Amino acid sequence: MTNLDRLSRVRPRNYYEEKRKEKIMRVTIDKDLCTGDQICVDLCPEVFEMDGDIAKVIVDEIPPEFEDVCKEAADSCPAECIKLQS
Ligand code: SF4
Repeated sequence: MTNLDRLSRVRPRNYYEEKRKEKIMRVTIDKDLCTGDQICVDLCPEVFEMDGDIAKVIVDEIPPEFEDVCKEAADSCPAECIKLQS
């Protein structure tokens, strides 16, 4: 095995950081559809907050311990305007 072969097997320094980022859940709200009923805020105030009459997301990355409740919020949203990405 040549040195080049060995090097090609070495993962880049940020490989695991990139993998971690790929798994991070992100949430967005389509503000044009939000009815402002606050269901998401009531379910998870750590992630959602009211901004006047509509909800907004207050964190960029969803901590793993809040992923399930964010899914519940998306499922419960009557306007279906909460989108999850991971
Ligand atoms: S549950 Fe949906 S419609 Fe209700 S406030 Fe949250 S984002 Fe808006």
